Amino acid sequence: MLTINGDSVEPRTAKRKIETTSNNAKANDSSVGKIFLKILLSCCNIVLSLLSKRIDYKISTAFRTKKLAMFKRTHLLSFFLIFHLNINSQVVSNLPTLGDRVSGAVSVEQEKQIGEAFLGQIYAQAPLINDPMIQEFTELLIYRISETSALSERSFNVVLIDDKTLNAFAAPGGIIGINGGLFLNADDESQFASVISHELAHLSQRHFARNILRGSDTNMASALVMISALALAIIANNPSAFIAGPAALSQENLRYSRNLEKEADRFGFNNLIKAGYDPKSMGEMFENMVQIRRLSGDQIPEFLLTHPVSSSRVSDAFNAADQTGIIGGKRNSIDYQFIRGRLKADYYKPINNSYNYFKEILEADKSNENIYALVRSYYHATKFQESLDALGLLLKKFPKDIMLQLTNAEILFGMGNLEAAKTQAEEVLRISPKNYPATMLYSKILSGLDEFYLAEESLRDLLITKKNNPLIWLQLSEIQRAGKNILGYHMSLGEYYLILGQIDESLNQFRFALKLSEENFQTMEYILEKIKLLQTNLRNRAR
Ligand SMILES: [Zn+2]
Repeated sequence: MLTINGDSVEPRTAKRKIETTSNNAKANDSSVGKIFLKILLSCCNIVLSLLSKRIDYKISTAFRTKKLAMFKRTHLLSFFLIFHLNINSQVVSNLPTLGDRVSGAVSVEQEKQIGEAFLGQIYAQAPLINDPMIQEFTELLIYRISETSALSERSFNVVLIDDKTLNAFAAPGGIIGINGGLFLNADDESQFASVISHELAHLSQRHFARNILRGSDTNMASALVMISALALAIIANNPSAFIAGPAALSQENLRYSRNLEKEADRFGFNNLIKAGYDPKSMGEMFENMVQIRRLSGDQIPEFLLTHPVSSSRVSDAFNAADQTGIIGGKRNSIDYQFIRGRLKADYYKPINNSYNYFKEILEADKSNENIYALVRSYYHATKFQESLDALGLLLKKFPKDIMLQLTNAEILFGMGNLEAAKTQAEEVLRISPKNYPATMLYSKILSGLDEFYLAEESLRDLLITKKNNPLIWLQLSEIQRAGKNILGYHMSLGEYYLILGQIDESLNQFRFALKLSEENFQTMEYILEKIKLLQTNLRNRAR
């Protein structure tokens, strides 16, 4: 049998054991097994529904503020309902493998459903960084790091949260959330990578499911409480919400145990080395966290509450680095420096004269990061020529860098030089076809040149691979409105709200679209199907 106190169990061995057990189980008697499981699952659902009510009541007593109570009413309850329904419909058709205790607590399929519901909440409630350049960089980096992780399924939803405090999290279903503040607090790419590889380890070791197994009484229900509380804390940007929410249950279920955190450190550390980074960077990141903790007073960032750094955690990390015998390794990339500079400028207040601050900083330290921060701060102050001049310093050093070329196009667009911006964006797209930030910018430029059809087409190309990205749908709707494609505008907004989980609003948009689609039979059919689906969704929620 698989031992759940996972530190001693290597995942590959565990997987083999699971397969053997499950094959034996299948060989016994599949029909009897299925009937038994169906009965068992029906019982579980009844228990779950009772538990949901009990926990729901307890949570309501734990929420003190009006805001949290409102959130609970509108979202938490629907979250419980959606998930409960999904369990009813999905589990029976997707029987958990016998003997796999981890999957038995929460199946991989269920983790995906939890993840989707969670993502909807985050999209709808949390302030997102709407910057395709930062998004693209982060996604590519995470995929690259994951290549040497223990994850078998490497498909992620990367959410960038517009918050300058330090935080990162991994939620079931491949969701990785990162605050802008992680960039600010990780001095270089290797320190940043140490946090990412730690989070990837939580996913690969299925800590979410294993944590639920630990609390033997409430399993699935506590999963819901935990994930909702997590969403709540992130959305409210209020670490205390993380404590207030599930206090009704047990504090134990809220955070990963020290053993699981240690395991994530260990797997994360191995991943970091395999990805070629300097092994010392994990210890350094912990030191940064100690420093942040010291300076944060009562306002302790979320990440430090869930990941307290003890002196032994720091020394363990440095000892492990020493033991590898590896000296050096990858530290930084040029693009990480640019992204960090970009965010530094974006978060500086007041934003309009941040260039004075960065000019001064640059006197002392002429790093690429600081030059880029100056470029960006001039841009924010609409001092476009100065911004281009500063960018010229970087372009001279790195003429082929795509991020710099894109920044060039962005500034040209900002100053209204649309033809030059278009030429520059086309140059980037020639080198990197379907590049996400380049295409987003290119479609804006085309729209500015009244080339609405081409602008729409370029975004539709992106949607082929990124149809769940709400920002593309939103931008498409704006271009369609500008181009007077009102039918398209309502349909794109409908898709946008659907991703955000705002079904009522989505339904409204598709109803508007239906009225406009009378002359186009195929489109009308499509919209009618969509409306039917949304109505079913709403009815299920109301049950
Ligand atoms: Zn962790």
